[in-house]
Amino acid sequence: KGPDPDLVVIAERMANVKHKIFVLSGKGGVGKSTFSAQLSFALAAMDFQIGLLDIDICGPSIPKMLGLEGQGIRENNLGWSPVYVDGNIRVISIGFLLPGPDEAVVWRGPRKTGLIKNFLKDVYWNELDFLVVDTPPGTSDEQISIVQFLGATGIDGAIIVTTPQQVSLIDVRKEITFCKNVGVKVLGVVENMSGLCQPLMDFKFMRMTETGEHTDISEWVREYLREKAPVLQNLIACSEVFDSSSGGAEKMCREMDVPFLGKVPLDPQLCKAAEEGRSCFIDNKCQLSAPALKTIIEKL
Ligand code: ADP
Repeated sequence: KGPDPDLVVIAERMANVKHKIFVLSGKGGVGKSTFSAQLSFALAAMDFQIGLLDIDICGPSIPKMLGLEGQGIRENNLGWSPVYVDGNIRVISIGFLLPGPDEAVVWRGPRKTGLIKNFLKDVYWNELDFLVVDTPPGTSDEQISIVQFLGATGIDGAIIVTTPQQVSLIDVRKEITFCKNVGVKVLGVVENMSGLCQPLMDFKFMRMTETGEHTDISEWVREYLREKAPVLQNLIACSEVFDSSSGGAEKMCREMDVPFLGKVPLDPQLCKAAEEGRSCFIDNKCQLSAPALKTIIEKL
């Protein structure tokens, strides 16, 4: 029996891709797609040609995070054509194949596996420096099939995104074990939403004299605190919880002998950038998260 013809076609397609990186997480909602999107933006800004493949079949958020909602995959004589972002990023997502943003994919394993195979076989990426694969949370059919189709040795490695909390870290351990079992290198773990950033003071209580001097400082501080006390107490309580779990990923990495890549703080501006489908690196709005993400990406 000769080699599987599908795998031969996939190998031919992938011959033009220099590096393949998986982004994994044990749980949903920890920032895996946000990281995949921002990693792609960062690498593209370094003049690399990037392919971003979203195989999170049940919850594809990549089209939104790249500002590509409503776009579709086209076909030409070379195969399925990805959707382009600013020239350097090409994106393929199941989200492009759904009739509307409210549609859900309720597919069993073999159908999901079939689509992933199609993505690998039929998409014409052209030359890529990096193919970033955004996977669904956990270790299910999608991860297993893509490793099988690409071959563990064909994958440069996996980045695992987690929040600092134990509930996420427990599942990360499973992801690490999965990678070890299938022979995919763990490039490292990112602790996302690690630490709350400083709440921005709002200065509506600040009074100004006609000459522009601030007055009534103690009065506005008092007024500010009176109004904000419940919010501040809440913030203190939340940050204490966050602080108590922060650093958990680093400890777990030491225990499991995999690299720790760094922490990304909880940053409302990063959340906004993801909502608006833009890079967090192009202006100074994401002052907390962008430098942290940059440091992590430089380590890869
Ligand atoms: P996942 O892919 O793990 O399911 P997402 O990337 O979709 O998670 O992120 C879930 C939500 O959290 C999104 O709204 C995203 O913008 C937001 N988010 C992710 N990371 C951060 C962060 N560091 N600070 C603030 N919001 C974040």
